[in-house]
Amino acid sequence: MSIKLNAAETRPGATEVLRRLQEGNRRFVAGEPVHGHDVAAARRHAEEQNPVAAIFTCVDSRVTAEALFDQDFGQLIVVRTAGHVPDRAAIGSLEFAVAKLSVPLVVVLGHGHCGAIELGVQAARDTIGGVATPGGSMSYLVGQLYRSSAQALREDPENPNEAAMRLQVVHTVAELRAAKDLGAAYVVGARYDLESGLVRLVD
Ligand SMILES: [Zn+2]
Repeated sequence: MSIKLNAAETRPGATEVLRRLQEGNRRFVAGEPVHGHDVAAARRHAEEQNPVAAIFTCVDSRVTAEALFDQDFGQLIVVRTAGHVPDRAAIGSLEFAVAKLSVPLVVVLGHGHCGAIELGVQAARDTIGGVATPGGSMSYLVGQLYRSSAQALREDPENPNEAAMRLQVVHTVAELRAAKDLGAAYVVGARYDLESGLVRLVD
């Protein structure tokens, strides 16, 4: 990854970047994207990158940040873990984006029908019922999702997967806002809807 930057460039602030992302999502939903992800576009950004935002999202194959925000090569730093679990490597990657690439905005992006969240909720349900959680490193993953999953099962037992996803976004936003090395950036939560393509902010 190149970290070459044009120091003289005036970087937009977090509010302006969020507006650009929301505008890009409107273009995506309307079927009017302006950025083609072809090799000519890749080549134009081969010499340097000037990313304006970091997106921390799930590994889900249906969540493609550049497409759903209609952004070009070189504009988004995308950090992904299943269920957007903020482990040390993920937080370190976001700190890299903020400290070294001067990114002013971090978006924690959850999504509907999240398989990782469903696994976390199932594991929390099984744990409460006395059944073992998955083995291997997946046990770390569901362990990290336990807080949001167990809270969702208590607070919204009719729809725990959606509730757990939203709680995982909210808890992750709070954790990132407390990370001192991310203090220069504004952190916001959002949810991507697979059916409509809409991204909406999560409070
Ligand atoms: Zn997911």
